Amino acid sequence: MKLSSPMEIWEYLPGTNCEECGEKTCLAFASLLKERQKKLEECKPLFEPEYAEKSKKLAELLAPEVREVEIGVGARASKIGGEDIMYRHELTFFNRTALAYDVWDTMEEEELRERVRKITNWRKFYVGESLRLDAIAIRSVSGDAKAFAGCVKHVAEETDLPLVLCSFDAKVMEEGLNEVSDRNPLIYAADETNWKEILEIVTRYNVPVTLFSPDLDMLNSLASTFSSAGVEDIVLDPGTYPTGEGLADTFSRFVRLRRAGIVDENKSVAYPLMSVPMTAWMVHGDEDALDASYWETILATIGTVKYADMMILHSIEPHSLIPERTLIANIYTDPRRPVSVDPGLREVGTPTEQSPLFLTSNFALTYYTVESDLSSNKVDSYLVVVDTDGLGVEAAVAGGQLTAETIKDALESYEVENKVKHKTIVLPGLAARLSGETEDATGWNVLVGPRDSGRIPGWMDDNWPPKTVS
Ligand code: SF4
Repeated sequence: MKLSSPMEIWEYLPGTNCEECGEKTCLAFASLLKERQKKLEECKPLFEPEYAEKSKKLAELLAPEVREVEIGVGARASKIGGEDIMYRHELTFFNRTALAYDVWDTMEEEELRERVRKITNWRKFYVGESLRLDAIAIRSVSGDAKAFAGCVKHVAEETDLPLVLCSFDAKVMEEGLNEVSDRNPLIYAADETNWKEILEIVTRYNVPVTLFSPDLDMLNSLASTFSSAGVEDIVLDPGTYPTGEGLADTFSRFVRLRRAGIVDENKSVAYPLMSVPMTAWMVHGDEDALDASYWETILATIGTVKYADMMILHSIEPHSLIPERTLIANIYTDPRRPVSVDPGLREVGTPTEQSPLFLTSNFALTYYTVESDLSSNKVDSYLVVVDTDGLGVEAAVAGGQLTAETIKDALESYEVENKVKHKTIVLPGLAARLSGETEDATGWNVLVGPRDSGRIPGWMDDNWPPKTVS
């Protein structure tokens, strides 16, 4: 994006504050455009003839530095690329790295369907979010076009995930593509040997394509050729080599490509990048699956950090999936906004009017840790979640977001007195220094709980019910 402030965007808008976009002012709309929370098309007046030049120019200026490519269709379609920055703290990353797990055309049908279901249905709850996987990569191992097409058909019947079709043989690719041409699959891949045939196929079917070459000049040349032919949904794979110098060079190629796309504004390589960590299996082999999956995950973490927009992986064991997907969840949060939950009064289990009343902050990680410690230990209770601007307890006490006054406001606005008959609140140990002020400000009896919510059950044995209940 070439515009760095809402004011710069605003200059291209009609400026009539007509509210057709749902915002009260054009400036508010400009601000949301910058955050990609609104689309340009939502300002209908901008597309009237008198603003034709401005709308065209604004669309160009708002386009991300790295092209955004969509793979798949429907609710689980995946957008990759679309980034504007090299480093997360400069703004935020917008489209997280998509994870595609492989199946292959020599698998028995039942085994194939079972693996596809596992990939499709995998979920992991993490800080208020249900983490899922993004795509299935179907590899031609047999080299047989009919076998590949059959495999693609079976996979498509089992999943609504986006598909990546993997073969360097254009005939095999076309046979597979015929089965799912309406699913907008990603073609993997065209290289210096097959590019003419693959270009003809992707042009005819209008599907996104991966271009492969570890030689960056060749990759640049392939991208220019495809782009000149009208193909813009391009993904670049500069090769993933799993060990030694090859690994160092892999890292270097990813950084150079992303730098060329964003810093040098070299449009011919400003496309999403593909990494293939499953190359670790070529070195470590099936006979040492634990070692192979370990190194595959190491490669995936490198790809996540620098700058893979999509990855093809093999291991679907929990020891691989959990770190791979969790790291992505952490990297692709917005660094400008702490991950938070809504403040309020929560019930844990089935509390009664004599149940303990705990308090915590609305930093998501803190909230889910406390809530999980209470519920997993079957501590029926109420939990007051104070709005601390998404900060954890200790930082919020230091920063003034968690004070006796904010606690008093929370108790009153969530009408806690209507829920419990006692007047005792348990502050987190990290907020111990607020206990006296809180008693004075609220009139509630304050107990100081443990610093670690995992110790609440033991703390309860000694402290609940309180010895003096007001
Ligand atoms: S629709 Fe366009 S002109 Fe109207 S307020 Fe929104 S941004 Fe401004």
